[in-house]
Amino acid sequence: MHVLVINSGSSSIKYQLLDTDNESVLISGLIERIGDAQGDLINKAFPGTDNEVVTEIEQPIPDHTTGMRLAIDMITDPAKGAIKDKSEIGAIGHRVVHGGEDFHEPTIIDTEVIAAIEANVPLAPLHNPANLDGIHVAMELFPGIPQVAVFDTAFHQTIPPHAYMYALPYELYEKDRVRRYGFHGTSHKFVAGECANLLGKPLAECNLITVHLGNGCSMTAIENGKSVDTSLGMTPLEGLVMGTRSGDVDPAIHTFLARNKGMDIEAIDAMLNKQSGLKGMCGMNDMRDIHAAADKGNKNAQLALDVQTYRNRKYIGAYMAVLGHVDAIVFTAGIGENDAIVRRLSLKGLAGFGVKIDEAANDQRAKEPLKISANNSTVAVWVIPTNEELAIARQTRAILDT
Ligand code: AMP
Repeated sequence: MHVLVINSGSSSIKYQLLDTDNESVLISGLIERIGDAQGDLINKAFPGTDNEVVTEIEQPIPDHTTGMRLAIDMITDPAKGAIKDKSEIGAIGHRVVHGGEDFHEPTIIDTEVIAAIEANVPLAPLHNPANLDGIHVAMELFPGIPQVAVFDTAFHQTIPPHAYMYALPYELYEKDRVRRYGFHGTSHKFVAGECANLLGKPLAECNLITVHLGNGCSMTAIENGKSVDTSLGMTPLEGLVMGTRSGDVDPAIHTFLARNKGMDIEAIDAMLNKQSGLKGMCGMNDMRDIHAAADKGNKNAQLALDVQTYRNRKYIGAYMAVLGHVDAIVFTAGIGENDAIVRRLSLKGLAGFGVKIDEAANDQRAKEPLKISANNSTVAVWVIPTNEELAIARQTRAILDT
């Protein structure tokens, strides 16, 4: 079955057409700067193979409908040879950021599901409306093809109340649904499943700590295959130090900034989300630039690296305490998959807890899963590439097969 995966952002659409029978990627595309004077589309047919065909278009793309129409032209272009007609697409899987407490698993989209995603807009005011744009456009352009929503929050709906409640007045939870939801769930679930296969036991028998370190960063404690705690909170701001997001800060800093610096709530929000994290500490948010600068003696770059990896270590320790017994720690996403130094520093000092790294293995670069723990480590440590598009395609197909 051909599944089209759509990840619709406020000014971008990522899409991938996969053949779920052999899990190959037929088309992969990215549309950016929707609504700007000039938009971009980059489309790759048969990416990463000898038959790869890359097409780049620069033209105004005023809205998501225009963007999706361009994508359909690419997908069905006979010269590219992926498919001839959009009717060959068996299903469409949409990434949806916030499912609130309504969605515990992927769901076939109907009017009630759309209403529920809309009802969760206050919890994700930037993401859910953009995801809904993608859904509306796809329903218009692909009538009759089943559409499935796969939620970033769904995997974390198994987190128990003692881990998802904030110690705030209870009405805030009852009336306004203020609680931890967690994000990156599709990625955490995917690498957890891959890790269970590598460990040779059912996921339902695995205790894991999955560490997603990309531009956004999060960590999840997984007990018997289920998420029992995660570092991102009601919004994707809490927890680890990210590219431009602060992660954990003293909540009283907000009041301090308002009282002493005259900042309003919008300025504080923008600062914490866009001007903090690695970028806030050293002016750079790409870990490759940070290493290059630190190597040349840039103290702030070294500090950013130290603060991020110390926070990672602190959370790993906390989740070891949450789980009691850990089968494996899994690193994934841009930094987690590629950065041996960040992995080493994040695991520093954990030998007493049974975590021992094989330095030579850790220094290797691989596109395949890589075991980086030493033979005498009681906790296995793996680097496992994440693949959210494949995860969405698999889940979309699975729900239609049932
Ligand atoms: P993601 O959000 O998963 O796409 O990750 C993007 C981030 O991964 C970038 O901002 C970089 O900080 C980081 N990254 C990508 N490649 C490398 C690399 N080779 N070494 C270190 N960090 C990397």
